[in-house]
Amino acid sequence: MSEHRGTPRVPRGMPSAGGLGGPGEAPPVTRIRVAFLGPPGAGKGTQARELAREWGVPQIATGDMLRDAVAAGTPLGREAKRYMDQGALVPDDVVVGAMKDRLAQPDAARGFILDGFPRTIGQAEALTPLLKELGQELEAVVYFDVAERELLRRLTGRRVCRQCGASFHVASAPPTRDGVCDRCGGELYQREDDGEATVAHRLRVYARQTAPLLDYYRARALLQPVAGEGAVDTIRAEICQAVERG
Ligand code: AMP
Repeated sequence: MSEHRGTPRVPRGMPSAGGLGGPGEAPPVTRIRVAFLGPPGAGKGTQARELAREWGVPQIATGDMLRDAVAAGTPLGREAKRYMDQGALVPDDVVVGAMKDRLAQPDAARGFILDGFPRTIGQAEALTPLLKELGQELEAVVYFDVAERELLRRLTGRRVCRQCGASFHVASAPPTRDGVCDRCGGELYQREDDGEATVAHRLRVYARQTAPLLDYYRARALLQPVAGEGAVDTIRAEICQAVERG
């Protein structure tokens, strides 16, 4: 069991940080430092986006960071694209370097949700000293448990908003207007790596390179499994309980 580290969590039902901070009001203590772990399509991003808002901490998603770098045509993006298009993992040193810069940003001092990082034992081993340098420590690793058939269904039908990153599904969560984001009116697209062949490869890569992290974090008493199938709100409530336990 991980010991309590003397930093109160956000009490459940508390309004998000964005809704607080009136004159004379003490800022909320929101030092939630968690990682979301699970196969592609498990719902990590959907939950991280909502909970980051609720908890008032940044969602730090390496997949989003890398896609932004690709879109901007930076050297990092050019290097990452070769791997991403094939559904392979970007090398550890590249991703860890990007994560180091990101965690040093002032907003991450309040806490964070790591979404899709770490994805290898090497990344997990790099993360610990990186956080230590910043006087931080991971408090829970939430594992999203979803059956493979469901992952395939979700990923191949997924459509993502280019503008705000919101996720839809052609069958189970279609947008009101075809190809248009309900939230912001942005254009929906299918990620290049959500095609059937690449999805199958990404799942194999997950099994080989990322699944060993389950034992790694279980051995460190940080792993908090949640059932990743069912209603989004039910899963969210389970994640909150898991983080409270962590
Ligand atoms: P995601 O959006 O999390 O599914 O990530 C999309 C792609 O970005 C992955 O298939 C990898 O190519 C790359 N990627 C994202 N996060 C990582 C990571 N932690 N380590 C290596 N590659 C990553």
